[in-house]
Amino acid sequence: MSNRRFWGADIGGTTTVVGSVGRDSPFRIEAVLSTLPLRGARRLLDELAGTILNADPEPLAVGVGIAGLVDRRRGILSFSPNLPGWAPLDVASEIAGRTGAGAVVDNDCNSFAYGAVRTGLIPSDGLRVFVTLGTGIGGTILDRGKVIYGTGFAGEFGHMAVESSGQACPCGSTGCWERYAGRDALVRYYLGREPSAGEETVPDPREIAELARNGDSAALKAFDVYGAWVGRGLASLANCLSPDGFYLAGGLANASDLFMQPACAEFTGRCRHPWCVSTVPDSSEAGALGAALMARDSRT
Ligand SMILES: [Zn+2]
Repeated sequence: MSNRRFWGADIGGTTTVVGSVGRDSPFRIEAVLSTLPLRGARRLLDELAGTILNADPEPLAVGVGIAGLVDRRRGILSFSPNLPGWAPLDVASEIAGRTGAGAVVDNDCNSFAYGAVRTGLIPSDGLRVFVTLGTGIGGTILDRGKVIYGTGFAGEFGHMAVESSGQACPCGSTGCWERYAGRDALVRYYLGREPSAGEETVPDPREIAELARNGDSAALKAFDVYGAWVGRGLASLANCLSPDGFYLAGGLANASDLFMQPACAEFTGRCRHPWCVSTVPDSSEAGALGAALMARDSRT
């Protein structure tokens, strides 16, 4: 029996999780690599291809979920704040050149959502909206488990304008939702100002959450403000999409107990949709699994 497998890699700003799945055999994690983005894309791609070929000299196909804006049809990473200096990068050709296998490349949020549906973390029926709250805000629209792309880039919720002349965003626009409900925004609400460049004692969201759970009033207030911005964005999405449910993931979703209430209050004041918002449990596997299944499904 052939041991050839479909491979999936979830390339994030910190780690790259690599796994594989057979035609009829289950998914397994094969390696966790340090992305070390500042050393450049080629080093990581060499390491990734080496990991694959060592275990499987003739991989059937490789799926890649990568943090950033992805031109899925051409397999190109077009823009990535988390992987500085990498874009534009023809990921599909780079992978094919190293492994001899065809590659399917998608945004990491879409591949995670694809994996989360297959593992039952997100229901596979109805219209479901997946939102990652982290440094930026990513999103995926799922119609009966199928990712909706539009012309290719649907789900970039983080760049939905929520303040027309608000904060400048690295994308070139102003007032993007992720400037108000991303990681830096929570820190800003806690401090009551922008942190200065090189400031060393700035707490991260995990520390602010810890302070809030211990009753620190500035931290609790920061989560109230943060939650209201989460609710505002979700209400706009509900008005546009009327989904069966929202599913939150990402680092800040771990503090959802601290912001769900203000988010819900803001949401219900701005739309008539029921508040149907839950969090997706942390999964180190779903991204690589989703990427591997995208590769397998593209060949069947
Ligand atoms: Zn933006």
